[in-house]
Amino acid sequence: MIIKRVVVGMIETNCYILLDETTGKAAVIDPGFMTQGLKDAVQSPDIKSVDYILLTHGHFDHIMGVYELKEITGAKVAIHSNDKKCLENERYSLASQVMPGKQKPLSCDVELKDGMTINVGSLEVKVIFTPGHTTGGCCFVVGDTIFAGDTIFAGSIGRCDLPGGDYMTLLASIQNVSKTMNGDYRVLPGHGEETTLECERKYNPYFRG
Ligand SMILES: [Zn+2]
Repeated sequence: MIIKRVVVGMIETNCYILLDETTGKAAVIDPGFMTQGLKDAVQSPDIKSVDYILLTHGHFDHIMGVYELKEITGAKVAIHSNDKKCLENERYSLASQVMPGKQKPLSCDVELKDGMTINVGSLEVKVIFTPGHTTGGCCFVVGDTIFAGDTIFAGSIGRCDLPGGDYMTLLASIQNVSKTMNGDYRVLPGHGEETTLECERKYNPYFRG
């Protein structure tokens, strides 16, 4: 498994490219904006196909690059059913507040559900439903790595004050991740630097349930 991070857009969203080097199949997690760096990364010779665009949630800073990335790669777009309306309407992604008229609507191809698995070549991506930042937030687990979206940040958690956000729901989601994922994991958040689950259990005040 090879993971590449590309930081995109004005809110410095972490977009991750997950590559199964044995088959050349890849997935892109949260293409917040299409940048030259992201284009170059998905067109790298090691990548034979981008099979999925996996979205941790539907906020504009995680999805504005989806339309163009899908056009380039033909990847299937996967998001939780509670957040799929964000792809269809800029009002729900909040793009309407920040860059009105810029989001091209599209529909999702795969509705994510808690516990389901998506295969990227020989890699298994497990979906954990983690609402609270939005009503359709998900984390993705591959091997020893958690792609945490805006649910977990190093030393902090995502905002709960945006539409669909709920503090107690987010805390419950974090407890669920902390308790069900035994042992240590690499945590790759939607913004900022990576961390580990053990480190967050020890030092992140929102993990003390
Ligand atoms: Zn967000």
